[in-house]
Amino acid sequence: MSATPSLVWFRDDLRMADHPALHAAAERGAPVLCIYVRHDGVDGLRALGGASQWWLHHSLSALGKDLAKAGASLHLLQGDPRNIIPALAAACGASHVFWTRRYGASEIAIDRTVKETLAAQGVEAVSFNGQLLREPWEVKTKAGEPMKVFTPYWRASQALGEPAPPLPAPRKLAAALLPDDAPGRMQLSDWNLLPQKPDWAGGLRETFSPGEAGARKQLSRFLEQGLKRYANERDFAGENVTSMLAPHLRFGEITPRQIWAAARHAEAAGQASAKDVAKFLSEVGWREFSYSLLFHNPLLATKNFNVNFDAFPWGEPNALHLRAWQKGMTGYPMVDAGMRELWHTGYMHNRVRMIAASFLIKHLMIDWRRGEEWFWDTLCDADPANNAASWQWVAGSGADAAPYFRVFNPMIQGAKFDPDGTYVRRWIPGLSRLESKFIHAPWEAPVELLAKAGVKLGVTYPLPLVDHPAARERALQAFAALKGQAAPG
Ligand code: FAD
Repeated sequence: MSATPSLVWFRDDLRMADHPALHAAAERGAPVLCIYVRHDGVDGLRALGGASQWWLHHSLSALGKDLAKAGASLHLLQGDPRNIIPALAAACGASHVFWTRRYGASEIAIDRTVKETLAAQGVEAVSFNGQLLREPWEVKTKAGEPMKVFTPYWRASQALGEPAPPLPAPRKLAAALLPDDAPGRMQLSDWNLLPQKPDWAGGLRETFSPGEAGARKQLSRFLEQGLKRYANERDFAGENVTSMLAPHLRFGEITPRQIWAAARHAEAAGQASAKDVAKFLSEVGWREFSYSLLFHNPLLATKNFNVNFDAFPWGEPNALHLRAWQKGMTGYPMVDAGMRELWHTGYMHNRVRMIAASFLIKHLMIDWRRGEEWFWDTLCDADPANNAASWQWVAGSGADAAPYFRVFNPMIQGAKFDPDGTYVRRWIPGLSRLESKFIHAPWEAPVELLAKAGVKLGVTYPLPLVDHPAARERALQAFAALKGQAAPG
């Protein structure tokens, strides 16, 4: 057994199973020092939103307990890892530092500096892919360029073969001691990640169980109940058919390789059809594609992928409209139900995310970046790649984006994907007694029906914030001005 300790630097990979960095440390056989360094909000690293902070608290707490069961501890530190990691490695005499790769430009720059400083100290730093099926640089066009269209991207990714099987969690770890003078030592409670006054996290607690065990449970539930209905029903907002694994993936409590293996196993066991499994895995593929876009376009969250969109005259957002959208008070039930689901649970169904995002951008003509920021703050799965890429997709400014003339009609979308109004009734109880025929357009309901359902438009539920045909026309004209220049990149 080698005596010099290994350091494992946890970041967006808060789990023990299928963790190549932790696995490598365990394989070395030497004592392991597990650390998490909080460093968001500075040095180009985006500050976590409120819902993500809530998640992080519980995820760190769960990982600490899981590591303790295997004999190790999770130590929390605060500060610049470019100083902390090399100082800690020196203080505890570590010969190896292991971590999982990240794909944002600032994160990569920081990791590179840490690696160089460690190398100069004679410490070996080893990084691994623990978050993606394929590294962003592995999937490329024949000319060696990054892919800009999803379907060929996913085909090329799959052509690289089946992903490696997931690694088991180490059963036993020998803990290295944290030196007394370790820089930036913190307790989880010091970070005040949980909302206090008010405690708005009740709906998040009802909806999710952050941590690796919670992720495993969520995956099992999905494999038993959702996967076999996925291809046909994933778009129906009122059905709980999708996996809801997004926040677990965001914080690395589960890996795409584990999900891949589990879905393939379910298919082989006859629990789900090949069609359901292929559809589900292709959604995981969209996550891979988003990470490839982020890696090759570091400013994905702030800069139009298609630069022709830079000419779009967004202007100052109408603050009242933005507020009404954020609070689910636009008067369009499908939009409002989504925004209320988000506010309450830290989650929103994918189909409704598209409808709500399109409404902000096209009906209210508010810059997609304002929506991206709101989702960043309120989604538990707020993800640097998926959120930015998806907002750009809806705006039409992204790679392989929806065409600019696609303006989601909230009434038609509602009638199609929430035909009996289950979703709207769940999130807007004030409309729950309205007939299905009018649930997506209450202003069209006869006065007697509204009265019978207890709906007073403008009082119990808002009148439409903007007129749909007029808003659609305005958007089409504004976006058509970019036509010709604005063909997706
Ligand atoms: P499932 O349908 O069970 O899919 C499984 C996994 O595949 C998801 O957990 C997710 O990791 C991935 N996935 C599914 N759909 C997509 C997609 N369209 N793009 C990229 N990955 C996908 N997803 C995030 O993870 N974080 C975000 O911040 C985020 N912001 C979004 C913003 C907008 C405007 C839109 C339209 C979509 C956004 N998405 C985001 C993508 C998608 O809506 C969510 O991943 C999905 O709803 C999560 O639910 P689920 O885990 O049940 O998904």
